[in-house]
Amino acid sequence: MTARRPALSGHTRVVGVIGDPVAHSLSPALHNAAFEALGLDWVYVAFPVRRGRAAAAVAAVPALGLAGFNVTMPHKEDVAAACDDLTPDAAALRSVNTVVARPDGRTLGDSTDGPGFLDALADEDITVAGQPVLVLGAGGAARAVVLALGRAGATVTVAARRPEAAESAAALAPGARATPLVAADPSGFSVVVNATPLGMAGGDALPLDPEALHPGQAVVDLVYHPADTPLLTSARRQGAVAVNGLGMLLHQAARSFTLWTGRPAPVDAMRAAVTTALAGR
Ligand code: NAP
Repeated sequence: MTARRPALSGHTRVVGVIGDPVAHSLSPALHNAAFEALGLDWVYVAFPVRRGRAAAAVAAVPALGLAGFNVTMPHKEDVAAACDDLTPDAAALRSVNTVVARPDGRTLGDSTDGPGFLDALADEDITVAGQPVLVLGAGGAARAVVLALGRAGATVTVAARRPEAAESAAALAPGARATPLVAADPSGFSVVVNATPLGMAGGDALPLDPEALHPGQAVVDLVYHPADTPLLTSARRQGAVAVNGLGMLLHQAARSFTLWTGRPAPVDAMRAAVTTALAGR
């Protein structure tokens, strides 16, 4: 029988997500489904926090007795600056997506996006150790992915339209190199990762020439809505394996859940909840 979360009470532990905007976030659906599945007396809510107020939100963690919170745009860098301590990943990225309240009242900032990305690849049996991997884009998501890929032993190339951003991202992985986005040829890579928003808004915009994709490659689009972007459709047509960003979304959340609760996350229940939430969009 499915466990039920107890009714909210004075004992309920509170976590959430800060962002601006934040009302669209899928994280409440993901985490509340997890609490429900394990019968935990916890609740996850969205906190609309205006730009510039991230430090006040971090200070509220011990003040309000929150177990922590997730962080989305535009606060990830400001929260990294405001936390008492950072994990090595968060320190390298100077970006935090998960704040954890420590028993001593200090706040720890972590970044679960990169490890969540690797978990998602593992679900699909995609290996990156010793493999050439092309990352398109050099924003926050790309940087987290590049750091994780470097740790996992991939040989990374970052392609972005701003050379300085590409170089800064490439500096996060040993031996990585940067190249202009227009010059990116995906044919020599085992794995191609789209970390630009191209494909999110519909239309047929592509970050690369799809004709250069081929069987034996995996193409991973960090976009998860729509589930099938023009890039993924092209990749499949060319015989490559196509993976969207839902797995990364799921696993970064699962890792936050474990950081707060100390429990393994009920990933299947979280996947079902996010799939239902996305189907309603
Ligand atoms: P970001 O920090 O704004 O970075 C976006 C990157 O894409 C930048 O390098 C940007 O280049 C580039 N870019 C934007 N528009 C472009 C265009 N028209 N042509 C070429 N390059 C373009 O955003 P982010 O947070 O990294 O997110 C990137 C994507 O990943 C989004 O689609 C987001 O939804 C997705 N994402 C998914 C997950 C997940 O869990 N699946 C997690 C995080 C993000 P400039 O710097 O030159 O603008």
